[in-house]
Amino acid sequence: MKLTKIIKKFRIDKPDKFRLSDCDPQDTCGLDIEKADAKAMLASGVERLTELQEKLYAQNRWAVLVVFQAMDAAGKDGAIKHVMSGVDPQGVQVHAFKQPSHEERDHDFLWRVAKALPERGRIGIFNRSHYEDVLVARVHPEFVTNAQIPPSLVDKDIWKHRFQSIRDFERHLARNGVLILKFFLHVSKEEQRKRFLARLEEPGKRWKFEMGDVAERKLWNKYMDAYEDAIRHTSRPEAPWYVVPADNKPFARLVISEVIVEAMESLKLEFPKVEGAALKELEKVKRALAAEGAKRRKAT
Ligand code: ATP
Ligand code: MG
Repeated sequence: MKLTKIIKKFRIDKPDKFRLSDCDPQDTCGLDIEKADAKAMLASGVERLTELQEKLYAQNRWAVLVVFQAMDAAGKDGAIKHVMSGVDPQGVQVHAFKQPSHEERDHDFLWRVAKALPERGRIGIFNRSHYEDVLVARVHPEFVTNAQIPPSLVDKDIWKHRFQSIRDFERHLARNGVLILKFFLHVSKEEQRKRFLARLEEPGKRWKFEMGDVAERKLWNKYMDAYEDAIRHTSRPEAPWYVVPADNKPFARLVISEVIVEAMESLKLEFPKVEGAALKELEKVKRALAAEGAKRRKAT
């Protein structure tokens, strides 16, 4: 199967019909990721992205926002590191969203996200995002009741309203030149168990293990329901969700980088052209610099 076809399989184009249980976290579309050509594809994704990012920066029109959501140990950090490995660090902004601070809780839930949006010409990566406010907050309603929002506004419609706010916000961004891509790294519960165990067994990985992660694992089904509902209500053409099978890390990385590359290619980015009077000026400078060199050579 061609990569272009593979990535389409994971884009949620019919959100009303979306069922998380239809998605297999182990799926690799028959691709043997250990084979040389798959490895070459991974490397070529990084290379193409490097080029696209240079044009994005030079053109300074579009911004790219990439959202990552996942359960713990699904491989968000590794995917971000891999996909962005060739990109100029000055052109990328990574932002990790943790439990909201006092200041953040004193604002609406989109405030901190809006502050962290990428500028034109940049790729912004959200490691967790505004979606936490319809995911972890849904699994733990105390995050909402303990927040500063007036209690009279916390009613049964709160999730519906938040989805609407998110859709409006993302549509607004898209209309202003932000290319939005959202990834849910879909890891299985069994694979998470293995990765947690590996973290406990390897001294170099122990620091990554958090007791809280085990507590969240117990709420697995509630999280899956929250993810399913959030994706159903917020996957839209201008800000699509990709549900990426994440049990196989290299495969997930391949899918993510191909999605970003193809979406950026569709922007038809070009280096700004220097023409007319500006080009004439440059020619003048070029001639002057060349003449200066000739003079120096003569003098020595
Ligand atoms: P890793 O564990 O791989 O280092 P992480 O993304 O899990 O990365 P942590 O610092 O472990 O980072 O966790 C951040 C925590 O903050 C998560 O449990 C997340 O659910 C929580 N969080 C983020 N945003 C919110 C929010 N708006 N409300 C409540 N909790 C949130
Ligand atoms: Mg964590």
